[in-house]
Amino acid sequence: MTIVINMREPDERKMRIAANLIREGKLVAFPTETVYGLGADALNENAVRRIFQAKGRPPDNPLIIHIADFEQLYRLARDVPKEARILAEKFWPGPLTFVLPKREDVPYVTTGGLDTVAVRMPANEIALSLIRMSGRPIAAPSANISGKPSPTSAEHVADDFYGRIECIINGGETEIGVESTVLDLTSRPPVLLRPGGLPVEEIEKVIGKVEIHPAVKGYAVDTAKAPGMKYRHYAPNARVIVVEGRENRVHEKIIELIDEYRRKGLRVGVMATGRFYDADAWVDLGRSEEEVARNLFKALRELDKENVDVILAEGIEERGLGLAVMNRLKKAAGYKTIMLK
Ligand code: AMP
Ligand code: MG
Repeated sequence: MTIVINMREPDERKMRIAANLIREGKLVAFPTETVYGLGADALNENAVRRIFQAKGRPPDNPLIIHIADFEQLYRLARDVPKEARILAEKFWPGPLTFVLPKREDVPYVTTGGLDTVAVRMPANEIALSLIRMSGRPIAAPSANISGKPSPTSAEHVADDFYGRIECIINGGETEIGVESTVLDLTSRPPVLLRPGGLPVEEIEKVIGKVEIHPAVKGYAVDTAKAPGMKYRHYAPNARVIVVEGRENRVHEKIIELIDEYRRKGLRVGVMATGRFYDADAWVDLGRSEEEVARNLFKALRELDKENVDVILAEGIEERGLGLAVMNRLKKAAGYKTIMLK
């Protein structure tokens, strides 16, 4: 049975129900500013194991632990460098995750067998209140079946987990729409393992040069350092093709491809960034990087419901939030992109 709790801001009485479930080792999906998380007590091995089971997530794909005050970081991680303090001061709560050496208390189930742990403080009052009231650090990957687009609303979570987890907190649509930026602080210079809600350019303004892991842009896909990156992700049922390059060329090419696929008898969907396309289904993600990020996962889920066979997606520039957007799009496409000069 799944309890659905509607809450636009923290409500002490309702929150108590969810917090108690966390304390009992149960699964609670909750909103963050990035996407919805599927949460459990991060230090309770059995509870964490249930997250992996529910999602069908490979056991070597580590989880992010969510905390509500900075001091909690020291109970989960060792050798916290000064960069962590400086970045946290500037960007926490917010969409930035640190990878640091783990303390013994953190079970290997949570870290996917690694000696490092990923930690962040989410910028969402409901999430923060759940963590505080439960008194536990909360491990939470995105609340979607493994491999499916991340959920940006409680309805998406319910589509994947209704009846299979104890509680869903409905806090409305998430603001950012892509997951957090993951920064490995165990190397020097720090390494960007996953682009996300906080652009790497913002991080570099504060701590200087950050190395970009090659997998971020789609190279060297299976690597031990960044476990999550080797799995196909965000994949709708349809085949996704990303078309990138000069705007006008992209526009023309997509019109050409719509025609080509339709002549083969396929249903074609388009994800556009501010332009109309005459296809079987069409979603406009918006013009700005922020809008595109916010609408991306919802669009993938919507196009699936339209039963299209092919999704043609307009690429955007890989800067600011665009790097996170393109990383998700390329993964959804299984790295099938058409680059026009
Ligand atoms: P999700 O919460 O579903 O967005 O997935 C969390 C992602 O964070 C993983 O897939 C990894 O890419 C990354 N991550 C978590 N823990 C670690 C770690 N210890 N080392 C490297 N990457 C990590
Ligand atoms: Mg995920």
